[in-house]
Amino acid sequence: MNSYVNIHTHHVGEGINILDVGEGKAWVEGEEKRKSVEGQEVFYSVGVHPMKLAGLGENVFTGIEDTVRMEKVIAIGECGLDRRSPICMKTQEEILDVQVGLAEELRKPLIIHCVKAYSELIAVKKRTGSSVSWIIHGYNNNEQILRQLLDHGFYISVGAALLNSRSNAFQLLRMIPVGRLFLENDDKEVEISVIYEAASAILGVDVEALKEITRNNCNQVFRK
Ligand SMILES: [Zn+2]
Repeated sequence: MNSYVNIHTHHVGEGINILDVGEGKAWVEGEEKRKSVEGQEVFYSVGVHPMKLAGLGENVFTGIEDTVRMEKVIAIGECGLDRRSPICMKTQEEILDVQVGLAEELRKPLIIHCVKAYSELIAVKKRTGSSVSWIIHGYNNNEQILRQLLDHGFYISVGAALLNSRSNAFQLLRMIPVGRLFLENDDKEVEISVIYEAASAILGVDVEALKEITRNNCNQVFRK
């Protein structure tokens, strides 16, 4: 049996977890003491979330510069752009640029948080000529944006929105090529197995086959 791949989560559960630990080094160090539980594998993503920028002041990167280099930190993020942030878009883009640079240097993919700034995000990806994988997490936007993201090579991760049949994610899931699809539970109190079952029902694909699909995508994304 394959494992569930949970590409973005804030709490560890069954399967292979990419646990978001924000920018905190102490957190990753503490995680080294985590007891291994059968059926759970834990890796980390480290980055600066655009909604946390205001609280970090000048020292935005102090926490992450070393942490991102740790072996078990396999992705950079969640980072990205958020129109709701009090920090202007230009500054957000500069901070994202630095993280794109780290991702390139370390050959680690980016886990992207984006709210109402998709054209700016695509522009950053183009401008930086980034060659690592960019994974949009928690996608639940419209068809036009989805098409643009796919055209620009993004991977798309969907989560708990699949449990609502009226959501964009539910309606558009079939449009995402399986070779670009990831699943996640983010910070939601829902097991990753429930997300896989929902996706399985929508796509008419066995859960086991879905696990294999996301595992193969992992191999693509983390190979570089
Ligand atoms: Zn998250």
